[in-house]
Amino acid sequence: MNKNKVIFVLVDALGYDVATRHFGFLEHLAESGQGAKYRLRGELPSLSRPMYETLLTGLPVWRHGITDNAVCRRSRFPSLFRLTREAGLVNAVAGWGWLLELYGDRPLPFDLSRDRLCLEGSGDIMHGLFYVADEYPDSHLYADGDSLRRLYHPDFLMIHPMGVDNCGHKYGALSKEYAAAAGDSCAQIAQRFAAWRQDGYQLVVTGDHGMDALGRHEGNEPIQREVPLYIVSDQVQGGDFSGEGPLTTLDVAPLLCSLLGIAPAEGMKAESAIHMKHAE
Ligand SMILES: [Zn+2]
Repeated sequence: MNKNKVIFVLVDALGYDVATRHFGFLEHLAESGQGAKYRLRGELPSLSRPMYETLLTGLPVWRHGITDNAVCRRSRFPSLFRLTREAGLVNAVAGWGWLLELYGDRPLPFDLSRDRLCLEGSGDIMHGLFYVADEYPDSHLYADGDSLRRLYHPDFLMIHPMGVDNCGHKYGALSKEYAAAAGDSCAQIAQRFAAWRQDGYQLVVTGDHGMDALGRHEGNEPIQREVPLYIVSDQVQGGDFSGEGPLTTLDVAPLLCSLLGIAPAEGMKAESAIHMKHAE
């Protein structure tokens, strides 16, 4: 069995503060040394589609060119999906339709009836299940991801829920609704954690950007930019390293490559402040 399998949970709009306050299970793993926690300074602009591309290619926006949510085209750089496919690994994703636009094989733009299921993709995404409704329940999205795990045994599985972002936009970052959505998302992870670890997966959880009190994210302030990074892996030292830095969303793609045992792409950051085990 491949020992380098990864589940990558990208909780859309999971700001650093809301995670610290409401991601109790992952905070517990960091506190007990069973997992690691870091604070990431998000790249700019703090928008979803530009950050999907940054997280999955390891490149800043000026370089990859996905400059706004409305830029609807294929990625022009190697993503985790392309790198895993080319390495002979299996990838799968349950996530927002923009991911299929960036890394899939279907005509643009995304069409829900045609593209919701892309179970045998010939693009960089091999096995995908997509949604485009803000209200799509996180409980179902996590189950979608878990279904892909059971069906395809992917080496790299991305699970991308939108419930936190949806509540943040509607009610703002200081609302009980945003807090509850974050807590619920963490619960979905906690409920599956034992099964995922039993199945041999490492776990990486982060956000693409935060959310401000007005229910917006795009700009340059900590509440909009800062996201947590939680890692559970036998390859990574456990503990709460959130006081260290500087780490940014550019560190996520090379981390995923390292955990998967594949070479990073050209242009990804070569050095990282993440504490790996067995490192000098
Ligand atoms: Zn948003």
